Amino acid sequence: MSDAYDLVVIGAGSGGVRAARMAATYGARVAIIEEYRVGGTCVIRGCVPKKLFVYASRFSDMFEIARSFGWTVDAKFDWPTLLANKDKEIDRLESAYVAGLEKPGVEIIRDRGVITGPNGVKLLHSGRELSARYILVATGGHPQIPEIPGKELGITSNEAFHLKALPHSILIEGGGYIAVEFATIFAGLGVDTTIIYRGDCILRGFDEDMRRGLEAGLTERGIKLIYQTTIARLEKRGTDILATMSDGVSAPYGAVMFATGRRPNTHGLGLAEAGVKLHAHGAIEVDEYSRTSVASIYAVGDVTNRAQLTPVAIREGSAFAATVFNNTPTTVDYSLIGTAVFAEPELATIGLNEADAATHDNIDVYLARFRPMMNTLSTKSERVIMKLITEADGGRVLGLHILGPGAAEMVQMGAIAMGMRANKADFDRAMAMHPTAAEELVTFKAPSYVYRGGKKQ
Ligand SMILES: Cc1cc2nc3c(=O)[nH]c(=O)nc-3n(C[C@H](O)[C@H](O)[C@H](O)COP(=O)(O)OP(=O)(O)OC[C@H]3O[C@@H](n4cnc5c(N)ncnc54)[C@H](O)[C@@H]3O)c2cc1C
Repeated sequence: MSDAYDLVVIGAGSGGVRAARMAATYGARVAIIEEYRVGGTCVIRGCVPKKLFVYASRFSDMFEIARSFGWTVDAKFDWPTLLANKDKEIDRLESAYVAGLEKPGVEIIRDRGVITGPNGVKLLHSGRELSARYILVATGGHPQIPEIPGKELGITSNEAFHLKALPHSILIEGGGYIAVEFATIFAGLGVDTTIIYRGDCILRGFDEDMRRGLEAGLTERGIKLIYQTTIARLEKRGTDILATMSDGVSAPYGAVMFATGRRPNTHGLGLAEAGVKLHAHGAIEVDEYSRTSVASIYAVGDVTNRAQLTPVAIREGSAFAATVFNNTPTTVDYSLIGTAVFAEPELATIGLNEADAATHDNIDVYLARFRPMMNTLSTKSERVIMKLITEADGGRVLGLHILGPGAAEMVQMGAIAMGMRANKADFDRAMAMHPTAAEELVTFKAPSYVYRGGKKQ
């Protein structure tokens, strides 16, 4: 016996939940299968708990600055309180996601789904078979761990959200945003923190000034950076873990965390057997409508490895539902995706970085470095960095990069202007709000420097 649905979604994360809700709202009979918790990576062990941890970690800087404003703060931090309150909030959000699915009539199935053919899904634990006009694979991804001896002694971001106690020290391998964010989280909470990375600077692909500025911010907070090195081996040493690096140096740490990339959850899903084509790293190949090589099977979100971000997965889920269940073929525009690194200092960016813009265009670069007003009474010397990249001679804004407090909030607003193809004069027309950091963006006069024919002048 098999139950028949218009749509079976595998994975109740950002993309799957949005697609299921919208398809049900359009009148489809929908089931969504989730093997862990409704909400997926973002809500349960990604963006949301991470941002809560980021908030927790930022108080140490705030307490330091508070003294210069006349406050005396006798601060103590309690990790179990943070964990318990975070868990309560995640439970609340999961309930809200469940309610949001049930309201339009989506059936939630707690099980592991495996594809059995173009229109079939089997539930691994109950053995139930479902048949579906369409299947949507929205199974997300998982942390990738290097194949080294003792790798099981390390943790990933998944476990970092549930540590029983804060370690006295941590070695974090990786140079991407997850490594950097967790480094500032742990350091802000008082953990002696080291990043080890095979490259020569954190955050490959980001604007060079922002990378170096954030690197300086990490160093100022006591985070140690070991570059062009990897972890070669982990061994237990009493309550510590002895990490031996690729250069032969060994040191003990209270914990070791791998933030060495994520891989799509496609293994053991029955995709190859159903004829669904995969890319080399296991990501599902899809067309602009998120359709796979099998006409009845679609895929959205991290499992397709287009841009591993929640809002992108949500957009893809919406576009899929509109295309298939509302007769409105819809694609996602990937041309202008803003992204943030919720480290300390915070970094946010949208559009082209300077190096990329310089190779394509004659460009003007407006660059400002200044002390955030909040710090001016303290001894903190950290600078905000703002960079606006435009086409030559006041043309269209091509890139916006901010390092400093509120960077993500500012860049989100800048994204609207850039989406409307704003040029420098549009930014200049905005009346400054004073005193703010963002007013710098609308009061830049002459470019700090320009590129003509790819050459800096
Ligand atoms: C530490 C961390 C921080 C992050 N921070 C941010 C951020 O600040 N901003 C941002 O935009 N993005 C962030 N992300 C990325 C974001 O979480 C993902 O891009 C987003 O969750 C992808 O959504 P998705 O629907 O593709 O998959 P997911 O949200 O991963 O959901 C997939 C779901 O499928 C389930 N599943 C898998 N296989 C099966 C199966 N066979 N049967 C049933 N269920 C299955 C999983 O349990 C999971 O619940 C972060 C990620 C991490 C790890």
